[in-house]
Amino acid sequence: MTKRIGICAVQGAFAEHCAALERIGAVTVIIRGKEELRGLDALVLPGGESTAQGLLLRALGLFEPMRKMIKEGLPAYGTCAGMILLAKDIENDSRRHLAIMDIKVRRNGYGRQLSSFNVRGTFAGLDDVEMPFIRAPYISGTGSGVEVLAETDGLATAARENNMLVTAFHPEVTDDTRVHEYFLSMI
Ligand code: GLN
Repeated sequence: MTKRIGICAVQGAFAEHCAALERIGAVTVIIRGKEELRGLDALVLPGGESTAQGLLLRALGLFEPMRKMIKEGLPAYGTCAGMILLAKDIENDSRRHLAIMDIKVRRNGYGRQLSSFNVRGTFAGLDDVEMPFIRAPYISGTGSGVEVLAETDGLATAARENNMLVTAFHPEVTDDTRVHEYFLSMI
């Protein structure tokens, strides 16, 4: 059956996730209001600016329903800012957002400005995955139920806990769809 993936589109790099998922046969649904949350098989929280996204999710009435759906097991993939939204703990910020996943993250972990770079690395046993980092956070702590799926220079940059997947990097801006395929396999 075709999978319907909601893409949170309040701010940030949502169009790239739509394109990547459609290339591998999924149907994507742009989410800007809570009516659009019906009938989804999974949800993507894209990169962008986590502070702005957190405010917009609340203002648009998406925050509570999304939080409940993910807590109840809806597969969710947070990229970069989306990872910050899912994290229970943010090392260098007093704000907390959805705070569901048992990870601690460091925002702008590589510095603020000259901090965008590309590496190739291993993700979940898949070799040579292109990993663009754009003012990215990294994962500085994980709870016992969290599996680290990628490391860059000794820092965790992708992880999974049950129905939640996060990457600090942006596979949606590359031609490689393997991270998105991995996410669809979680449904
Ligand atoms: N630096 C951004 C934040 O803290 C995340 C950057 C991104 O999503 N590319 O929200």
